[in-house]
Amino acid sequence: MREPVLIQAKDPAGFRLSKSKYLSGLQCHKRLYLAIHSPELATEPDEHTQAILDMGTTVGELARRRFPGGVLVETDHRHPTEALRRTAALLQDPTVTAIFEGAFEFQDVLVRVDILERVSQAQDGPPAWRIIEVKSSTRIKDVHVDDLAIQTYVLAGAGLVLAGSWLMHINTPYVYPGGELDLEQLFALQDVTAGVAVRQSDVPGRLAGMKEMLVASSPPGIEPDGHCHTPYDCPFWDHCTKDKPARWVYHLPGGGRVFQQLIQKGIQTIDEIPPGFRLSILQRRVKDNVEWVGPRLKAALQTARYPVHHLDFETFMPAIPKYPLTRPYQVIPTQWSNHIETEDGGISHDEYLSMEARDPREEIARTLLDSVGKEGTICVYSEYERHILECLCEAVPSLKQELQLVIARLWDLHPVIRDNYYHPEFQGSFSIKSILPALVPSLSYDDLHIQEGSLAAQQYDRMVFEETDWVEKARIREALLRYCERDSLGMLEVRRVLLGKALSEATVPKLE
Ligand code: SF4
Repeated sequence: MREPVLIQAKDPAGFRLSKSKYLSGLQCHKRLYLAIHSPELATEPDEHTQAILDMGTTVGELARRRFPGGVLVETDHRHPTEALRRTAALLQDPTVTAIFEGAFEFQDVLVRVDILERVSQAQDGPPAWRIIEVKSSTRIKDVHVDDLAIQTYVLAGAGLVLAGSWLMHINTPYVYPGGELDLEQLFALQDVTAGVAVRQSDVPGRLAGMKEMLVASSPPGIEPDGHCHTPYDCPFWDHCTKDKPARWVYHLPGGGRVFQQLIQKGIQTIDEIPPGFRLSILQRRVKDNVEWVGPRLKAALQTARYPVHHLDFETFMPAIPKYPLTRPYQVIPTQWSNHIETEDGGISHDEYLSMEARDPREEIARTLLDSVGKEGTICVYSEYERHILECLCEAVPSLKQELQLVIARLWDLHPVIRDNYYHPEFQGSFSIKSILPALVPSLSYDDLHIQEGSLAAQQYDRMVFEETDWVEKARIREALLRYCERDSLGMLEVRRVLLGKALSEATVPKLE
């Protein structure tokens, strides 16, 4: 048996790559170059990104419980030599059935392996190990195979006998019955040995290309485009785009192919696009960059019936189910806000936010039914609220009939605006976050502690399931209420502003 080669001298150029750096290099050589030579240029992860990373850590820790008898290499990433030594000792201990976060190095690539399971030990032969990568995603992605390929390359180089490569991810069909989680059901295990072997054969060439690139005196001249967001958002985006013009052609909506065509023609700004260039209607509006009021705006807005309710839900999607009879990543509504406008212009506001660590859906449904009553249009923005109400029908069958009547009253403001109105400050986007500041500048999101739905979801989870300080709980509660309220009030004000524009447009005589 060949002793595992665990510690090697660093590359003469001084670069030690990790598996995440290798994956960065696969996405973009410039990203890897900047990560090694100028990491200070990266944008710090925002709260939402950090929450995703934290969730991955939680899922990883839970996955380990499927391997009783496994031992964690606790040494952190700042002490690789110690981690390598500890791993070497565990490999030699036949009582260790699995190693978590084991460290290995080969050709100046250092990897930490989520789970290494001892599979068998033939008499006088070396033990074989199964490598298992844990992901909080719901399916295998291409990048996961590359992730395992660099790990198996390093492990094989370090002298380990590998018995297969597996991916462990969240199994969304699992219905949590309550009580203890069934880890066999919560996680799906997929054998990806064959795909990883194919990808592993590319590793030496790719590593050589990266190392050659890294010794250059300046980063490769790669221009930012769609590749900067696939498979991950690059943290150097702000740096790479800092000199781009405000009306850079990349900001043309839905324009991946169009963007490439324009760049090939040497066109950098939207204003330089020649008149004959083929654009979609929305792209044309962005290029024209003037306000447009469609002839049918007034009629479309006047289909709303008073009292007009303006409804917004907030939700969260826990990767690990929290409530009985729910699935991983199931959407759970946690709060709603409803602004009601009567025909005489009066406005009232109702809201509900669940504060308890129990399934909030029935309470959400009951309180909402009380608020929307039986009369009037229910204005929403996009199909999301319809989807949530349909989920509530399933979750609370005793209220299904009443909820279906609510669904029948939904009135979507999004297509009304998309088809009948454009403002230059939309910059091609019809999200409520784009249209509200443009149409009602006094109601932007800048003054709010929570400014987007994913952060609201993360803060809700923290408030209900983690936070113990009542002062902090109260602070989060207030921030959540103000965020949801902004969306529903925003819809109301946008409707009013648009109605004003449509009415004044209708009274202006048209020049022939
Ligand atoms: S922003 Fe794009 S071009 Fe710049 S380093 Fe990142 S991936 Fe590469």
